[in-house]
Amino acid sequence: MPSPSLRLAVVGAGAAGLVAARELRREGHAPVVFERAAAVGGTWLYASPSHADPLGAAATHSSLYASLRTNLPREVMGFLDFPFTAPKLSSPAAAIDARRFPGHREVLRYLEDFARRFDLCDLVRFETEVVGVRREASGRWAVTSKKLGEKGELDEEIYDAVVVCNGHYTEPRVASIPGADTWPGKQLHSHSYRVPEPFVDQVVIVIGASASAVDISRDIASVAKEVHIADRSAPASTCELQPGYNNMWLHSMTDRAQEDGCVVFRDGSTIKVDVIMHCTGYLYDFPFLGDDSTITVEDNCVDPLYKHVFPIEVAPDLSFIGLPWKIIPFPLFELQSKWVAGVLSGRINLPSKSEMMEDVKAIYLRREAHGWPKRYTHNFSGDYQFEYDDWLAEQCGHPPIEEWRKMMYAANARNKAARPENYRDEWDDDHLVAQANEDFRKHL
Ligand code: FAD
Repeated sequence: MPSPSLRLAVVGAGAAGLVAARELRREGHAPVVFERAAAVGGTWLYASPSHADPLGAAATHSSLYASLRTNLPREVMGFLDFPFTAPKLSSPAAAIDARRFPGHREVLRYLEDFARRFDLCDLVRFETEVVGVRREASGRWAVTSKKLGEKGELDEEIYDAVVVCNGHYTEPRVASIPGADTWPGKQLHSHSYRVPEPFVDQVVIVIGASASAVDISRDIASVAKEVHIADRSAPASTCELQPGYNNMWLHSMTDRAQEDGCVVFRDGSTIKVDVIMHCTGYLYDFPFLGDDSTITVEDNCVDPLYKHVFPIEVAPDLSFIGLPWKIIPFPLFELQSKWVAGVLSGRINLPSKSEMMEDVKAIYLRREAHGWPKRYTHNFSGDYQFEYDDWLAEQCGHPPIEEWRKMMYAANARNKAARPENYRDEWDDDHLVAQANEDFRKHL
């Protein structure tokens, strides 16, 4: 028998928390969304430079830089039943960003529209941070929240279950460089990077090869004297001027930093450097959870989780939406949310604990088969994300991910490799855009 409406705490009102709230309410539950910011949007709420701090310690602001445009086309990015279409021409001119790969403000506009369209803002307690989640003897959860502001009052309430949607792009991971402590230059994490102006005529090392490293190195190269990208997967002898640039080089990883201001690469070359920019990713962080959550986070692997969502011992009363990476985020969040909502109401069954544990072991085997370190456990690169999405969809009685979306995602990856500088403005998949727009008609 499906259970009656449950009182649920959702942590976070970014894309994951918003769609989780919608799906939980659709299922008949009563979600309360806690959000420490003053508005919805999470990552897509740009924080101006004055809020940024160098290495990002204890910084809760978003990690967006001013020039950021999406790295996925808008048709692919949007929720499954709420197309991310270009704004209408009747919108105020200043607000129009109809590009296929829009700037970050346009994604925020889309999420705000989503929240309005499904009446989600009334469910959100803004400027309220969850500081503790404790399992009661009854199996319910005591959620302690703090109202941000002068008084910082604490409040404790009891919920039937907790859905964690706190994002994983705010707690910086910093590269360990021998000698960095006494090196006299400035270190910064991409979490705190906003605009290139502070780097005029500087020599900058950008560590990393992720999407942020690619964008930020190009951003900085427009004003800096020299940009040196340190990519740990490049062979030790690498020192290549980048095509189209006369001031940007690709190297292997740094070997050490010295007190005289120089940084030495693995090939022995030495450069006097003003700034080291760590584009080295982020860490999962759940400071409000205790041991009774039954999960551990070790080498950036959240463990043990059934299907990257439910801690086996306390399923389904604690769940995580949005942990996987190298994915199309919004559709995956939506399917995870539908699944969690259906499982919580008893409409969808989970397997036994031992069967769930067998499934977790299969995840480890996949990781080992790729020769990946533990921190790649939630990496969904390749076709795995679509297998996973379609598995979730089947559980929920939802159609699988549209073929055009899968094909467009692959076409975008190919285009990005072929045109790294301008894949956001030139492409060859207009036929897929036409299919997407045809498909969107049923939702518009
Ligand atoms: P978030 O957006 O981080 O939201 C989490 C929310 O939880 C935040 O609002 C936070 O304030 C709140 N919160 C956290 N802890 C607490 C607490 N204790 N109490 C109360 N509230 C709390 N995705 C794409 O699809 N396309 C892109 O082009 C793209 N580009 C990106 C570029 C950058 C630089 C980054 C960092 C990410 C990018 N992403 C992109 C991924 C992006 O993170 C996801 O699209 C999505 O926004 C993640 O949503 P989320 O809800 O999981 O997390």
